[in-house]
Amino acid sequence: MQYVCPRDVCVGCAVCIDICPMKCISMQFDQEGFLISVIDEKNCIDCGQCLRVCPSLKTPIGNNGDFEGYMCWNRDTIARINSSSGGVFSCLADYILERSGNVYGAAFNENFNLIHMQIYSEESLPCLRGSKYIGSNLSGIYIKVKSDLENGKYVLFSGTPCQNAALKNYLSNDYEHLLTCDFLCHGVGSTRYFNDCLIYLEKKYGSNIISILFRGKQHGYLKPTFEIRFANGKIYKEYYFLSIFGYFFRDKLCNRESCGSCKYATVERFSDFTMADYGCSDKLEQPLREIKKGISTLLVNTEKGRKVFEQVKNNLVYVERAKDIVISSSPYLQMQTSISKDRRMFFYDYLTLDFEEFIKKYYSVSKKEKRKMKYSGKWNESPVQFLYKVFHKICKL
Ligand SMILES: Cc1cc2nc3c(=O)[nH]c(=O)nc-3n(C[C@H](O)[C@H](O)[C@H](O)COP(=O)(O)OP(=O)(O)OC[C@H]3O[C@@H](n4cnc5c(N)ncnc54)[C@H](O)[C@@H]3O)c2cc1C
Repeated sequence: MQYVCPRDVCVGCAVCIDICPMKCISMQFDQEGFLISVIDEKNCIDCGQCLRVCPSLKTPIGNNGDFEGYMCWNRDTIARINSSSGGVFSCLADYILERSGNVYGAAFNENFNLIHMQIYSEESLPCLRGSKYIGSNLSGIYIKVKSDLENGKYVLFSGTPCQNAALKNYLSNDYEHLLTCDFLCHGVGSTRYFNDCLIYLEKKYGSNIISILFRGKQHGYLKPTFEIRFANGKIYKEYYFLSIFGYFFRDKLCNRESCGSCKYATVERFSDFTMADYGCSDKLEQPLREIKKGISTLLVNTEKGRKVFEQVKNNLVYVERAKDIVISSSPYLQMQTSISKDRRMFFYDYLTLDFEEFIKKYYSVSKKEKRKMKYSGKWNESPVQFLYKVFHKICKL
C-alpha cells in the first residue's frame, strides 16, 4: 500500500483526496481505527499535488504569536449551555448565517459516523455544537468550501488546527468572505475503539443509540458527563473522564499517534480565531455559576479576526486577558499532547482480545476515583455559597 505521508505522520484530514486530479486517493481506517489516506498506485500520475497541500508536510504562514486573548461566553444561554465551553463557536456561526453564508463543522450523521458538514440555517446549528473527541471525515469538504467562496458566499470553517492548515494549503489564496476557526487540540481518539464502545453499550442497554453527547453540563462545565441515549428511553451517563471512552482518552491510550508530534500546538496561529476551554489557572474572580455554564478562551489571531470580533463582541460577555496568562494557562499553545508509553500494549490487547474481555481487563474505575470526581471542585465555592447550600439542605429536611 502506498501512503501520501507516513502512517504515523498522517493526520487524516483528507485534503489529498480533494486535490487529487486522478481521484486515486481514498481514506481508509488503519488497524487502530484512525483514518489514513491511501493511494491507488495504478492511477497515480505522480503530480505531487497531494504533497503540496498535506498539512503534515507543509505549514501555512502564521501570525508570529501576535494575538489578543479573551475570556468570554455567549450571551445566548441556550447556545452556551449546549456547547462544550462558552459557546463562542455559535457566536461566530451566527455572524456567518446572518449573512446567508455556510458554516462547516463536525457532526454525527445518522449512523453516528463523525463527518464535516455544511449547514446554512440556524436550525441545523445544534448538530455542529460540542466537541466530539474522534477524527472527523472531511472528504469532499474542501471542494465545497472553495466552490462556496468562488460563488461569493460567506463561509465559516471550524476544525482542528491541522484541518484548518489543510484548508489554507488547498485554497492557496485568501478569500475575503472566509472566516476560519480552530481550537487548542490535544488530539483525537480511535474511531474504531469508539464504535466498539457504541456496539458494546447498545448490547448492554438492549437498544439502538439515538444521541451522543461527549460533554454534558449537568454537573457543570468542569465536570463534563458523557451521555448516550437509547431508543428504549435508557441513558448511559458517566463523568466524561470516567466513561468507557473518556477514561482511556484522558490517559492518552486510545489517541492518534500523529497527534503526539503535532506541528500546530504552538502560539503561531494562522486561523482567524482559536477557541479553547477557559483554563481557570489564574485567580480571575468569576462567580461559580458562570463557570458551571461554561467559559471559553478566545484568541483573535488575524486582522480579519479583529474586524469580525468588533462586530460580534456585543453578543459575548468578554474580558481581555494578558497574553502571558493565556499562554501559561493553555498547554497546547506551548507543546503537543503526549502519548502514553502504554499505548502500544493497550492497542495490542484491544486488537487481540474479545472486546468484553478487553473492557474487563482495562476498564475498572475505582470507588476512590468516582468519589474524587464527585467531590472535586466542591471546595472552590466561596464560604458564603457553601453555607447557603448547607442552609438550604437543612431547610428542606
Ligand atoms: C478533538 C478536540 C480536542 C480538543 N482539545 C482541547 C484542549 O486540549 N484544550 C482546550 O482548551 N480545548 C480543546 N478543544 C476545544 C474545546 O473543547 C471547545 O471545542 C472549544 O473551546 C469551543 O467551544 P465552544 O463552546 O465555543 O463551541 P462548541 O459548540 O463546543 O463547538 C465545537 C466546535 O468544534 C468542532 N468540532 C467538534 N468536534 C470536532 C472534531 N472531532 N474535529 C473537528 N472539529 C470538531 C465543531 O464543529 C464546532 O465547530 C478540543 C476540541 C476537540 C474537538
